[in-house]
Amino acid sequence: MKTSSCAPLMEVSRWLAEATAAAKCWPCGCLHGTLNSLEAVTEELPPEARALKDELASARARLRPLEYECLGCPTCYPALAANAFAAAFPDRAAALAACPTDLPEQRAGWPPLPGEYRVIRYRAPVAVCTLTDDALTERLAEARPAALAIIGRLHTENLGIERIIQNMLANPNIRFLILCGEDSAARVGHLPGQSMLSLYRNGLDDRGRIRGAKGKRPVIRNVPVEAVEAFRKQVEVVDLIGCSAPAEFLAAAAGCAARDPGPALAFAGVPSVPRTVAHPPDRLVLDPAGYFVIFPDARRRTLVAEHYRNDGVLDHVIEGLRPTELYATAIERGLLGRLDHAAYLGQELARAHHALLAGHPFVQDAAPGEEGAPAAEPPPSGHT
Ligand code: SF4
Repeated sequence: MKTSSCAPLMEVSRWLAEATAAAKCWPCGCLHGTLNSLEAVTEELPPEARALKDELASARARLRPLEYECLGCPTCYPALAANAFAAAFPDRAAALAACPTDLPEQRAGWPPLPGEYRVIRYRAPVAVCTLTDDALTERLAEARPAALAIIGRLHTENLGIERIIQNMLANPNIRFLILCGEDSAARVGHLPGQSMLSLYRNGLDDRGRIRGAKGKRPVIRNVPVEAVEAFRKQVEVVDLIGCSAPAEFLAAAAGCAARDPGPALAFAGVPSVPRTVAHPPDRLVLDPAGYFVIFPDARRRTLVAEHYRNDGVLDHVIEGLRPTELYATAIERGLLGRLDHAAYLGQELARAHHALLAGHPFVQDAAPGEEGAPAAEPPPSGHT
């Protein structure tokens, strides 16, 4: 590969050569995007910069169909090439940011966009982004603090941030976003944490670039500016970048929860999760598989479920120590033919178990919908 003799461009050539030689980069969105934007700007540069064209052509010859947007490598060669180019030609840096990013596909439900995250609880006020720290994501997700709605990572300062914005706006319960873990180091090029913080503090300029962001291409293209502003109003970003101590994070999450202002106004245009007020069942529908009589056997300290056919004949007795054992066995033996019956069995077993442990008397509840709703062949009162 030819290398440019212009000193500032030698860095660009060097990192382009590394990317060209690295098979992992060929199907990666970082290399695709960087080549597209560098190719566009080198057309307008002085002759010495046009020497890059051969190197760009060599890199393009290696491209494979896109398989991933960004692998989040500790050192990203195309990002470094773009940064070096921006350092050599500061007036062209904004044009570099115009590299293409794909429109993410939305889906029904929350979160509407896929990503590297774990959902904990929808109606919780705190989201956490561990940036590039995978291990911290797992540790915090396992801790499952009550305030936590979602926890995930962030590798890119454009698509990644866009996805976070849309997933946060789709859940008005989220009022805080804690950034923690290690941001990608400055030489890596992406700086997603610094970019997210800049977006929260400074917003976008009129070209969609995040004001004050130092990453390679911190441009928000797929989210309208109104949505960005709504995100900035809905969510307070808490800066714990560099912190990987779970105790510090848990204290911050608890502090956020303590000053949770409640759900924000839903942002129009973002799909919301349907909310339905629950109501009792209208009528009893007998399970064709039969019904259960449940009792806690205090003397033997076991739970007992007697299964009857609907003609009143006992055909099975299940005994066990815990509700899970009994209902799993009932399912396995084909003794449940309706979902509402299965749910009711679980509820009654849990009540019976509680009575057994506490030494309280147990009276089996009537089946939902039984009162005032005549069934075709009503079994004895107090069945499930
Ligand atoms: S993130 Fe950068 S270094 Fe890693 S595969 Fe993608 S282009 Fe290559």
